[in-house]
Amino acid sequence: ARRAVLSAAAGPGATADGHAVPLLANIGGPRDLEAALAAGAEGVGLYRTEFLFLDRDTAPTPEEQEEAYRAVFEAFPHGRVVVRTLDAGADKPLPFLPPPGEEPNPALGERGIRMFRRHPDIMTAQLGALARAVTGATANVEIMAPMVATAQEAAWFAEACRTAGLDSAGIMIEVPSAAIRAADLIEVVDFFSIGTNDLTQYALAADRQVSGVAGLQDPWHPAVLDLIRTAASAASAAGKGCGVCGEAAADPVLACVLVGMGVSSLSMAAPALPWVRAALAAHTLEQCRTAAAAARSSVTPGDAVEAARAELPGLH
Ligand code: PEP
Ligand code: MG
Repeated sequence: ARRAVLSAAAGPGATADGHAVPLLANIGGPRDLEAALAAGAEGVGLYRTEFLFLDRDTAPTPEEQEEAYRAVFEAFPHGRVVVRTLDAGADKPLPFLPPPGEEPNPALGERGIRMFRRHPDIMTAQLGALARAVTGATANVEIMAPMVATAQEAAWFAEACRTAGLDSAGIMIEVPSAAIRAADLIEVVDFFSIGTNDLTQYALAADRQVSGVAGLQDPWHPAVLDLIRTAASAASAAGKGCGVCGEAAADPVLACVLVGMGVSSLSMAAPALPWVRAALAAHTLEQCRTAAAAARSSVTPGDAVEAARAELPGLH
């Protein structure tokens, strides 16, 4: 039965009543492209460029960067490719760029866009390599920054992208302050992409890397759902897109709930794409909305899952 559902659901992502939800792939570099294409990804929703920078003693040269970016753009000549600028620090330290001092809580330290504030040269070099790789590419390339907490940071990044000649700049929503004040942040950028892994970590104050608090790392927590809803509503009110690129998008039931909360695209590891495509194809937008409302009316993550499932027949 599972196989039948999967084959019925080939093609672009959409709900049963035809509401389009582009289904994109998360990739770490050109080597992940084959799996993304094989799974029918419509584009790339999260290109984690930090893998170019990790496990080496020096920064990648502008040429190395340009070559990697170009390979990704060429794989999706008619698709959307969302490139995330370097997200180093915390769980991804760079040997050639140690934090300036001791960080007792690296997840709360100089990671993501915060590192660019100290080293704007690294940002400028990356945006420059991206701008050169975009030249001649037919993919719809968009650039986004990780770990943005404030509207000032968002505006600073968007300005840096414009200066580099890149015309679509967005931000990840993965810090609760950015979700709560999403209406301010969407004013200065072109799109949002919600990183549910970090958004959950910071909303519940539960370190992603500490197994003892893993029970709190649950994106089904209604507090996390409320933050997602706030961000998606702000983007929609501004006529802009709000995707999700955290692990939550790979859960077929939660994917329906995200769509019901107004999320406009979903990006995930390639193997999850067929399952999410099938789940969306089996339910209407109205069912997704009802499931989202039921989940958000719950008190615990477990109740939220059950309440959503009750509105989405056929998903287990
Ligand atoms: C996230 O935080 O949800 C995310 C997609 O980014 P990463 O997992 O790379 O931190
Ligand atoms: Mg993140």
